[in-house]
Amino acid sequence: MAGNENIECCDRRLEFILQKGEDWQGYVPETATCGVCDTSFEKMVGNEHAYKLVEDENGLHYECTECGELIMAIDMAHSKWITSFGGLGNCERETIPYCPNCETKPEYNGNPIMPKNKSVMSLFG
Ligand SMILES: [Zn+2]
Ligand SMILES: [Zn+2]
Repeated sequence: MAGNENIECCDRRLEFILQKGEDWQGYVPETATCGVCDTSFEKMVGNEHAYKLVEDENGLHYECTECGELIMAIDMAHSKWITSFGGLGNCERETIPYCPNCETKPEYNGNPIMPKNKSVMSLFG
């Protein structure tokens, strides 16, 4: 798929760099910084609009580059798979940003976290 992102700042096209996260993460961000004004941008992989980090009298927050809306975030819980017969493990938490104008609110329940180095079937074998 050809990259059709042409998010610009100061008449320059931003170069987004993929941030490697955990396998279970629902939100995989790409970040960019404008070389002219030093503004930070962040976006979900595949999104054509980004979140722009702005600072004003209310402090730091993100704005949508598409519509200027204030970016909201939800706290998403990822329940871990049962790793022993002791019961359910803890939850990992993840903050998922979204534009309330351009994007639909992410579902509260995230992907389950798969145990590392262990297939699901081995739990039932
Ligand atoms: Zn700029
Ligand atoms: Zn928006």
